[in-house]
Amino acid sequence: MKLVFATNNPHKLEEVSQILGDKIEVLSLADINCNVDIPETSDTLEGNALLKAEYIYQNYGFNAFADDTGLEIEALNNEPGVYSARYAGEEKSAQANMLKVLEKLEGIENRRAQFRTAISLILDGKTYLFEGIIKGTIIKEKRGEAGFGYDPIFIPDGYNKTFAELGNDVKNEISHRALAVNKLCEFLA
Ligand code: IMP
Repeated sequence: MKLVFATNNPHKLEEVSQILGDKIEVLSLADINCNVDIPETSDTLEGNALLKAEYIYQNYGFNAFADDTGLEIEALNNEPGVYSARYAGEEKSAQANMLKVLEKLEGIENRRAQFRTAISLILDGKTYLFEGIIKGTIIKEKRGEAGFGYDPIFIPDGYNKTFAELGNDVKNEISHRALAVNKLCEFLA
């Protein structure tokens, strides 16, 4: 079976291809000659994941899946959520985004947060949704160098290090994305 993963991120593609093994061939957008930056105009993670998978199914005729992830902070009404990438502006700066979160949480005791990944799959016209959540805490200043995005300010429950301190091997075992991808893979298997 062939499936298109509607992403331009080679790391995500490799991660998923590895988990899915030989039975399912995962194609990238480049593999199907799609050079479009598919617009993410929905106000939910699920909506954006679906937009991307639908775009491929409708325009290229391939079964496809796509993901979208956000950091949801309890005390900020689940902000930045679907706007995580561009929370502090269109330049999508991770440093500016983290600074904005830390400033907004100044003086607030409730630091509970979660990363949530939504994966949408379109298989022969039917839509399926998979979700991965990891809960944790936002600390008061950045710690660690690994990972990306909000990793230096997020400590997952059960650990005392941030995602950026834990490193990719640990993170990829327990992360929101790994959980959602594993659900997708179990379904496909
Ligand atoms: P995407 O859906 O994977 O492109 O993620 C959207 C945005 O959410 C990214 O630009 C990051 O700001 C944030 N984000 C997603 N996944 C992670 C993660 O694993 N760690 C930290 N931040 C993340």
